[in-house]
Formats: sequence, structure tokens, C-alpha cells
Amino acid sequence: MSLLQIDRISKTFGGVQAVKEVSFELPAGQLLALLGPNGAGKSTCFNMLNGQTRPDSGSVRFDGRDITGMRPRAIWRLGVGRTFQISATFASMSVLENVQMALLSRERKLFQLWRPAACFYRDEAMQLLGQVGMAAQAQRSCAVLAYGDVKRVELAIALANRPRLLLMDEPTAGMAPGERNALMALVKQLVVEHQLAVLFTEHSMDVVFAFADRMIVLARGELIAEGDGDAIRRHPRVQEVYLGS
Ligand code: ADP
Ligand code: MG
Repeated sequence: MSLLQIDRISKTFGGVQAVKEVSFELPAGQLLALLGPNGAGKSTCFNMLNGQTRPDSGSVRFDGRDITGMRPRAIWRLGVGRTFQISATFASMSVLENVQMALLSRERKLFQLWRPAACFYRDEAMQLLGQVGMAAQAQRSCAVLAYGDVKRVELAIALANRPRLLLMDEPTAGMAPGERNALMALVKQLVVEHQLAVLFTEHSMDVVFAFADRMIVLARGELIAEGDGDAIRRHPRVQEVYLGS
């Protein structure tokens, strides 16, 4: 049984059918790309998976459990993490403190913040920073980090909740090509080593074909193609959507 099972989810906004009867599965240990032009319904899909948007119909199952319509916080607690395009770090705090905060939040201990943050989860936070290649910059302020390094800290923050499924909406937006590849190589490594399931959107086809195990393509809210890189490249409807031919 797949970790994530989406069955015919739909969502309409006013007169716009943003997502129409989309079904797919994502097993643990797989990196799945969600593709499609602007307005195809990718973000709406993400929002329906983490509880931000309730589907009009259809169901979302995570680890065998029906999570359709559950609140974002409850879904997050079950192990569905998400990274955002807008930075989720506190710029005035150090890299280490940001991850310590995330660990406090997981343990519902944010009320203990009156104690010096340095007391909490230092080892676990350093271990997470090691996983994302940021241990050497632990004491730096997030405000002075390079853009790609902020993204790594955000990944560590997302991992602090020990997610089994991670949703990443355009994780490499705004990055230079070298940074993009480095970040996705890291994500891929986490997928393999921790059997993490990752669903991500990405504009660069080079990145998608280099790292995704499988891809699904949306157009006008409908799933039009699914498969590995070769299948997607050869798919006539995908060529139509992307090349206008
Ligand atoms: P993508 O992420 O693939 O660019 P979206 O899921 O953001 O696509 O949008 C799909 C369609 O739904 C678009 O036509 C968009 O304008 C519409 N849409 C998305 N969210 C809302 C909303 N909250 N209210 C109204 N329309 C929305
Ligand atoms: Mg979007």
C-alpha cells in the first residue's frame, strides 16, 4: 500500500475548476514531481494534501488513514511536512536557534521559550543541520545566509517534525542552477536514506529529469500524464501542453 493515496480529488473556486478528479499514489522512498503550466492546479493539490484547502469531493489517504478535511496542524502531526516559497526562518535568530525552535514546536514546548534557547535539543538540532550540510554555519544569523543556505535551513526545520511525506512547492525557485542541483541532490539523498516520500513542483525540466523518480502532469486541473522521464518526454499530450504543438 502506498504511503499517500489520492482518489479523484476535485476543487472549484467560483466558476474555475482548479483541480478535477485527480488520482495518484506516492510510495515511501520516492521523489515525485508534480508538473504543469501556471494555473494547472499544482498548488491547489498541495493545499488539499496538507489540509489548507478542503476538496469538494474525493479522498486523501495517508498511511492508510483517511485525512480528507482534517486540519493542517493535525495532518502535520501525522507526519506530512511542507516547505514554502516564502521564507519560514526567523532572520534575527541563528541557524541553530531556528532549528531548536522547530524542535520545541514539535514537542509542544514553545511555552518554555523564556529559558535560554541554547538549552533545548542542541544535539538533535546539530544532527539535523549536519543532514542538510549546515552544521558549520550553525551560529550564523539567518539574515546573513546565502539564499541556497536559507533553503537548507528551511529543510532542516521541516525535517524537525520527522515527516514521512514532504510537500515542496517550488523548492528551488529563485536559485542559481548549481544551488538547485545541490538542494535536489540533498533531497534525493534524504528520500533514499530515510525512505521519505517527497512530492515537489519545479519549473526546471533539467532538475525534474535529473532527480524525480516519477512525474505526473496536470493541465487545466486534470491529470494528463504519469510516468518516468522517458514516458513523460514522449507523451503526446505533454508535448502539446509544453510546446503548444
Ligand atoms: P498552479 O499552482 O499550478 O499554478 P493553482 O493551483 O495555483 O495552479 O491554480 C489553479 C487555478 O485555480 C487557477 O486558475 C487559479 O487562478 C485558481 N485558484 C487557485 N486558488 C484560488 C483561490 N483561492 N481562489 C480563486 N481561484 C483560485
Ligand atoms: Mg503554484
